[in-house]
Amino acid sequence: MLTKILDESLLQKAKHVLESANKVAIISHTGPDGDALGSTLALAHHLKGEGKDAKVLLPDPFPGFLTWLPGASDILVYTVEPEACAAFLKTAEVLVFIDFNQPSRMGGLADCVADLKAKTILMDHHPHPADFAHIVLSYPQIASSSEIVFRYICRTGSFDVMTSDCAICVYTGMMTDTGAFTFNSNNEEMYYIISQLIRKGIDKDAIYSQVYNTYTADRMRLMGLVLHERLQVWEAFRTAVITLSLKDIEPFNYQVGDTEGFVNLPLSIDGVDFSVFMREEADRIKLSFRSKGSFPANKVAAELFDGGGHLNAAGGEFKGSLDEAVKRLEERLPDFIL
Ligand code: 5GP
Ligand code: MN
Repeated sequence: MLTKILDESLLQKAKHVLESANKVAIISHTGPDGDALGSTLALAHHLKGEGKDAKVLLPDPFPGFLTWLPGASDILVYTVEPEACAAFLKTAEVLVFIDFNQPSRMGGLADCVADLKAKTILMDHHPHPADFAHIVLSYPQIASSSEIVFRYICRTGSFDVMTSDCAICVYTGMMTDTGAFTFNSNNEEMYYIISQLIRKGIDKDAIYSQVYNTYTADRMRLMGLVLHERLQVWEAFRTAVITLSLKDIEPFNYQVGDTEGFVNLPLSIDGVDFSVFMREEADRIKLSFRSKGSFPANKVAAELFDGGGHLNAAGGEFKGSLDEAVKRLEERLPDFIL
């Protein structure tokens, strides 16, 4: 049995709004990850099972190691099909925002939804959500948004009709947001949920392989370059920094998602509690942060790099060069250590 973490009255409100609608748009964040896809696709499978016209919309493309997810080929990506996204949104009766806590994380979709009259529901696990949805199911103590969706489905009485496709999506999000159950993963109910997903027919070993063992040779070699030549360890600050320029990736046939997970690698070094990955993009530097223990990755992201996230996993951006971004971190990091 699961503890009733989701608030009963909010749950009933969300259920009522979704039951009354025929057309539902489910939206997640830029740079979509396993939990963004897992949670949104799981809810889409559930709502389609109830006869709804439910569609997942993402601001930008998702990594190739998630294309196998059931339902992924039906996703509308804003940067690829802006008109189709706008058309679907215009007639959607409900918008469900999942796995992000502020409207700007919707990228180009933020403007599309700004003036819509549809009812809105937020399901998320990032701390301090902005006030942008009618019904807010915000649970930072839950490790993934996919687990929130699972709990929603169970509490609304639909576990019995949950399909294996839906269960696969839930499991994928739970797995990826905990680094395959290596962080944020000490809650015993997580393992009860996994046992229920296995009852639904998921093959957890196969899901692991499809997500983590599908590197291209180019991606593996890019990882080699990163570890051998682009990794700095600032021992005094128990911090590791990786930088990657557009020029660096040129020889490696870069695909979306190829650097996913690289930020975690330096945490395997004894004595490193904080890892920062900085990747040059056309118009900005995108940063990822990971930490062990109580070091607040999200605080560094929010205060220095216009971002946010969780205590141990956060992201942000910087307008300027890679060298300037490193310099900013170098100058300000002592404030967070002392
Ligand atoms: P990642 O490093 O995997 O891109 O992101 C790690 C975590 O930080 C995720 O929970 C993600 O939602 C959050 N995050 C990533 N980039 C940003 C950002 O630019 N702004 C905010 N507020 N959160 C971010
Ligand atoms: Mn998440």
